[in-house]
Amino acid sequence: MSVPGSVLVLNAGSSSLKYQLVHPDTGVVTAEGLCERIGDTGSSITHELNGVEVTERILLPDHRAAFERVAALFAEDGIDLATAGLRAVGHRVVHGGRTFFLPTLITEHVMSEIERISSLAPLHNPANLVGIRAAAELLPDVSAVAVFDTAFFHGLPDAAATYAIDRGVASLHAIRRYGFHGTSHEYVSAKAAEFLGRPYGEVNQIVLHLGNGASASAIRGGVPIDTSMGMTPLQGLVMGTRSGDIDPGVVMHLHRVVKLSADQIDALLNKQSGLKGMCGEGDFRSVTELIEQGDASAKLAYDVYVHRLRHYLGAYLLELGSLDAICFTAGVGENAAGLRADTLAGLENFGIIVDPERNTMRSKEVRRISADGSRVEVLVVPTNEELAIARQAAQVVAES
Ligand code: AMP
Repeated sequence: MSVPGSVLVLNAGSSSLKYQLVHPDTGVVTAEGLCERIGDTGSSITHELNGVEVTERILLPDHRAAFERVAALFAEDGIDLATAGLRAVGHRVVHGGRTFFLPTLITEHVMSEIERISSLAPLHNPANLVGIRAAAELLPDVSAVAVFDTAFFHGLPDAAATYAIDRGVASLHAIRRYGFHGTSHEYVSAKAAEFLGRPYGEVNQIVLHLGNGASASAIRGGVPIDTSMGMTPLQGLVMGTRSGDIDPGVVMHLHRVVKLSADQIDALLNKQSGLKGMCGEGDFRSVTELIEQGDASAKLAYDVYVHRLRHYLGAYLLELGSLDAICFTAGVGENAAGLRADTLAGLENFGIIVDPERNTMRSKEVRRISADGSRVEVLVVPTNEELAIARQAAQVVAES
């Protein structure tokens, strides 16, 4: 087992704790798992070590209890996390605000800063902090590093990052476009350049991260120039349960006329919208099954999803001016061949041609799905946010 030198990557959500023990140099994953429904009577852990998976229903009243149980599961397999020679604990932190754009060694001061910017991501940052504190209590001697989901987009050009609202209000309240899924967009775009055998700084690409959350980015020579998420991860593409782009007037209408509170609108747009809102299912596979059964609302939901994707693709094609590659990644992007074909259908005049056979071939590796005559390379690039976080955390520790 390659535990010494590994990084424990933690991604704490409001009621979940996802973890992976991965070696940053080799990419070897010793263990990974997920604690779900923390704080609820139906909580459970799925833990996989060296390919053996166990699931247990166990009461996990809070994140500390969840992390303790995770540590106990490791101990049952002979791994004492405190003494196993971990290089770092790497925490995914959703919002870095204007303060954080580099992977950062966590100190008390850093924790209080993450707390201070929590108003920008009230659903995410407090949960991330709870995970940071739980790990710090149990592993006080292991360095902890925060890797921010917004970091890659920190340098977005002002014209792309600025909302056209009152300048004073925007600057006083730090209202601008931050972008999210940055770790994935950076990892995937670098992998794509490597696959193409070209310097990162010379490749213009559009990355489509299509998972439960979804976002697009335009990357010119390794530098992001636009992305679809905004001040929060609600803007942009249609997602599993999030609306993506919506006229802000709808929000006012929901408040004034429908009499929904801010919290109710927040829940509606974040949890009951997107694919789920339109057809009752937020999971892409379930939507596909509904379509196969002839469900008209699922078909419409799919069409809206594709329409929005093409809208961003078109915009980014123009912003970039010249395009070398389109990369599909995350659960939907890596697996849904039909969606990839529909998204890029009829774009031959733009030099984008998908090869139907390559597109339907399944693999866990980076692969080209464009036809030989396609001027733009179309790639499927499996994302690996955990490995990217582990590498960044290890580097911070090495330099500290
Ligand atoms: P992620 O957030 O990256 O884990 O992606 C989750 C999404 O990927 C869910 O909507 C899944 O339905 C979707 N997904 C996973 N596997 C497949 C598959 N084989 N075909 C289509 N969609 C998939």
